[in-house]
Amino acid sequence: MLGRLFILSAPSGTGKTTVSRRIQAEGLVRVSVSHTTRPPRPGEENGREYFFVERDEFARMRDANLFLESAEVYGNLYGTSAEWVREQLAQGRNVLLEIDSEGARQVKSAAPDAVSIFLCPPSAEALRQRLEKRGQDSPEVVARRLAAAQDEMARENEYDCVIINDNLEKAVAEARDIISRAAAA
Ligand code: 5GP
Repeated sequence: MLGRLFILSAPSGTGKTTVSRRIQAEGLVRVSVSHTTRPPRPGEENGREYFFVERDEFARMRDANLFLESAEVYGNLYGTSAEWVREQLAQGRNVLLEIDSEGARQVKSAAPDAVSIFLCPPSAEALRQRLEKRGQDSPEVVARRLAAAQDEMARENEYDCVIINDNLEKAVAEARDIISRAAAA
């Protein structure tokens, strides 16, 4: 049996990575490692969080149709390896893509049976606090991410399911439920 494709989108700082790590640790899905032109943040490793590539390398891959989807987010390019996703699904593994709403749109048009999930912060204020507490980004970057978060949240109605992350355990349980139900269908 083929695996099922899932999309998880969320404004940055919503807890998307924490939720997807938990779901992956439970063995429900494999999370795709994207390619990006963004420089690594402290502690990030090539091949673990992302494959970090130069812009010309990214463009070459995109022109060779190696990406299932790709998008520019906050001035950096991101893309999902089509081959890796295909291989995993063929082996019967469920795959989770942590991608933005533009990428989600592209995946849904290429693979309409993909299940898309939007993880929502409890409020704009909670999101600002989380982004500031993370301390990884300058105030300008935090402001830019907050503005982008508003745009992303305006698109939540394009998703199959919306989870409000006001409590991590509850959000993980809801994601687990959505994924195991769709995978069994
Ligand atoms: P960050 O740079 O903070 O890790 O991610 C920034 C944004 O890029 C997040 O919204 C994340 O979901 C999105 N993103 C990460 N990888 C991909 C990808 O492969 N494709 C698309 N379309 N977006 C991605």
